[in-house]
Amino acid sequence: MRLIDAHCHFDFPQFEGRRETELEQGRTRGLAGLVIPGVRRSDWGRVRQIALNYDGLSYCLGVHPWFVDEHSDEDLAELRRLLESKPDRCVAIGECGLDRLRGNLDQQWPWFEAQVDLACELGMPLVIHSVKTHDEVHSLLNRRQWHGRALIHGFSGSFQQARKLVDLGCFIGVGGVVTHARANKTRDAIARLPLEALVLETDAPDMAPEGVSKGQNSPRFLPDILDALAEIRGGTPEQLAPVLLDNVSRLYGWSAADIGE
Ligand SMILES: [Zn+2]
Repeated sequence: MRLIDAHCHFDFPQFEGRRETELEQGRTRGLAGLVIPGVRRSDWGRVRQIALNYDGLSYCLGVHPWFVDEHSDEDLAELRRLLESKPDRCVAIGECGLDRLRGNLDQQWPWFEAQVDLACELGMPLVIHSVKTHDEVHSLLNRRQWHGRALIHGFSGSFQQARKLVDLGCFIGVGGVVTHARANKTRDAIARLPLEALVLETDAPDMAPEGVSKGQNSPRFLPDILDALAEIRGGTPEQLAPVLLDNVSRLYGWSAADIGE
């Protein structure tokens, strides 16, 4: 079984000194790689460096909605410049998006819009953070005539919301939420969506799955998310894994050779 964690903040200080061990432990359960999102300009260099340090790692560059107020137009120009240079292992723009529960939506909006436009222009996938803003994300993608591939990462919401985003071409990120029995609405959505639209992720060190303490999440728990997914949808983890690997490959534009097949 080969699994890829489509969204993991492996550059965060919580992993300092533990990265080798985390990857090794993950490997024994099928973890073949992970993708590190970039959340703010001051972290971009570290994200890139850590992705390049280990086999199977890729990264994204972007400005997260929580950090928009520490950025200026000059940072957006730098983002464009970096992405245009097509750096090795940089696979998407993000994470960017909207968050109704933290920060100011009016301030987040132009940053999200600019990164959506950049994704269209450069033909790159997007990694989207959306907290209680799925309808807004949908309407913005529509209005900007966005086309391409995107991950709605760490999805939490209803089937109807997910379905609309999938119809636009988005993948739905299945994370620790589905391991919690009380997350009925999200589990129902994930159970009913087409399997071809789902991508596995941990969002570690956050979004701890059931039984893991807050802030202690790790990519080595990705197989537990797969187990929960298999339980929700029926089928075995072994049956789901190849489809999920194909999905994440389509999302990030990887060939079989890219993922070492
Ligand atoms: Zn994240």
